[in-house]
Amino acid sequence: MPELPEVETLRLGLQKYLVGHKILDVKVNVSKIFQGSAKDIIGAKVKEIKRVGKGLIIELDNGFDLVIHLKLTGQVIYRDKKTADLKLSDKAGGQLPNKFTHVTFALDSDAFLFYNDVRRFGWVKVIKDSKLSELPFFKEMGPEPFKDLTLEKFEDIISKSLIAIKVLLMDQKRIGGIGNIYANDALFLAGIDPRRKAKELSPDEAKKLYEAVLEVLKNGLKYGGASDVDFINVLGQEGKYQDYFLAYGKNQKKCSRCSGTIEKIMVGGRGTYFCPACQR
Ligand SMILES: [Zn+2]
Repeated sequence: MPELPEVETLRLGLQKYLVGHKILDVKVNVSKIFQGSAKDIIGAKVKEIKRVGKGLIIELDNGFDLVIHLKLTGQVIYRDKKTADLKLSDKAGGQLPNKFTHVTFALDSDAFLFYNDVRRFGWVKVIKDSKLSELPFFKEMGPEPFKDLTLEKFEDIISKSLIAIKVLLMDQKRIGGIGNIYANDALFLAGIDPRRKAKELSPDEAKKLYEAVLEVLKNGLKYGGASDVDFINVLGQEGKYQDYFLAYGKNQKKCSRCSGTIEKIMVGGRGTYFCPACQR
């Protein structure tokens, strides 16, 4: 699932390419993915692109927003005359639109925005800007790294929880934006066993983990996100963070820090990768 660095990569791309465009038409092939009325956004201009956790907000100039959540395999791809010849990743389905393109936005200047989704868990919602904060997804979002998640807040959240630290890191209601990839890598970087109870971390470990979270997210963003599964950026190109995974996906590979071997276990129902020798 795309996490903070992937969605932020997408946001930056949309900010660059989509802002200023007018929406001329909306074609919906899978109705459960597109929620709300297309009529409310036709004729509106894109003002700004925002992100909350793993959610994208396309702000329009008529008081409406388009809110997008990619969930597992959603993709948002922009094409116009200038970008038409750019090579598209195979992960985009070879050509656009294709059988996984469920929503197509026709824009002015012969541009298009495509919403693809192989697994169809994602959604695109039309909502009044004034109602945005009432969406459960936003209302329940915890503080976010680089925004309102300070070290003090992080320590406070940790000190109140008995669940495994990795499960806590991924709980969007307590901390927004972190999923399986960056939770695994942050815990590896901080040298902390993912199974440990959150409140049993020492203040020193909490600080280390806080800094590790910021560092792995920064790295994810620096490499344009991770495209180990379906993520691609707004131009349909892959990110590179998968080449820099610290622990995620490295089952039975040698640990990069000690002579140990990365193991895969299940924590909170999710595949968890860690080095039993140096993560304590
Ligand atoms: Zn190790």
